[in-house]
Amino acid sequence: MVTIAVTPEEAGETRVALSPETARKLAALGATVKVTSGAGSRSRFADSAYQAAGATIAASPAETVAGADILLKVRRPDIEEVKGLKPGGMAVAMIDPFDNRPGLEALAGSGASIFSMEFMPRISRAQSMDVLSSQANLAGYKAVVDAAAMFEQAMPMMMTAAGTVPAAKVFVMGVGVAGLQAIATARRLGSIVSATDVRPATKEQVASLGAKFIAVEDEEFKQAQTAAGYAKPMSEAYQKKQAELIASHIKGQDVVITTALIPGRPAPKLVSKAMIETMKPGAVIVDLAAERGGNTDLTQPGQVVEHNGVRISGKLNLAGEVPVNASSLYAKNLLTFLELMIDKKEKVLKVNWDDEIIKGTLVAKDGKIVHPNLVSQGA
Ligand code: NAD
Repeated sequence: MVTIAVTPEEAGETRVALSPETARKLAALGATVKVTSGAGSRSRFADSAYQAAGATIAASPAETVAGADILLKVRRPDIEEVKGLKPGGMAVAMIDPFDNRPGLEALAGSGASIFSMEFMPRISRAQSMDVLSSQANLAGYKAVVDAAAMFEQAMPMMMTAAGTVPAAKVFVMGVGVAGLQAIATARRLGSIVSATDVRPATKEQVASLGAKFIAVEDEEFKQAQTAAGYAKPMSEAYQKKQAELIASHIKGQDVVITTALIPGRPAPKLVSKAMIETMKPGAVIVDLAAERGGNTDLTQPGQVVEHNGVRISGKLNLAGEVPVNASSLYAKNLLTFLELMIDKKEKVLKVNWDDEIIKGTLVAKDGKIVHPNLVSQGA
């Protein structure tokens, strides 16, 4: 019998690692599911809904984890919770693996196996476990909805007897998972959408969503995508040409959504202070890269700032502002991941430590940090 524990997140995190739907599916796999009372409340999942799905409600986090095999979290778990697990237990979360190294070492020292969902390999078998995609998609949607709410004009064109309201011009920078959803959402609101990226594969995707593609399409652009599907850092010469193109385009835009990221690096600075100063008062920028320093010179992570009438939102965790969907999709990602580890016939844990998905996400085991991206940082 496998026991799975789910405890509440820290204040400010609205999401939870289990939905009533995944509780039911885990119970059907033969697992005992224990949830701390109130853990799902910020995602509107009541204790009674978990109970109806076959889960047990525990009064405290300590009681929830006591003797469990697996702890499921959204954010990096608390060391005390991990210590409450069975010897050799497991914790699965978005642990933000490059942050707070001493904290990570302490977690590893507990002896539990720690998995980082952010390290999920981007292979087709793992698509349904890809938390970065499930959360970025919602963040891209919410960024546009936020921008529309901040913008003091209408987004679609309206032809009325009293005159015509022009359609808003929306520019999306970075066309990964979040950017594609931002384009689609802005189009649904009736705005005129353009988008840029350094990966050539995005050109067709942008066009297929009915938006205009804007980019410096030189030889370097043709090579900008890594084998893993991510962007490479661009040369200084490319960045200069890119900045000139963006400077001329951005001054006519009403809304700019920035999402550009390069794995393991600070977000590239794409929108300078001087560019922002050419924008119209009332224009809005929503910077989804704020968590990694931001794509604009003026982004303040966690805040909305105003400069010459242009507002720049650096709000963090936009997926957490649609917690019902964000938790449901995240919980589903975790369920698919756990299905890899639970033997359906014998209803016991059977982990294939050589599986690419397990190896790719395993951060710590038997008291040590084991992930290749983290071991070189030294203990
Ligand atoms: P990301 O969050 O790392 O980056 C967002 C976007 O910013 C990317 O499109 C990137 O090219 C772009 N960018 C980086 N530097 C830039 C610059 N200087 N100027 C303009 N744009 C810049 O990306 P992501 O959302 O994680 O997606 C990356 C790729 O991975 C996509 O092709 C996506 O479809 C693919 N993907 C594959 C799987 C899978 O197979 N399991 C899952 C998810 C995503």
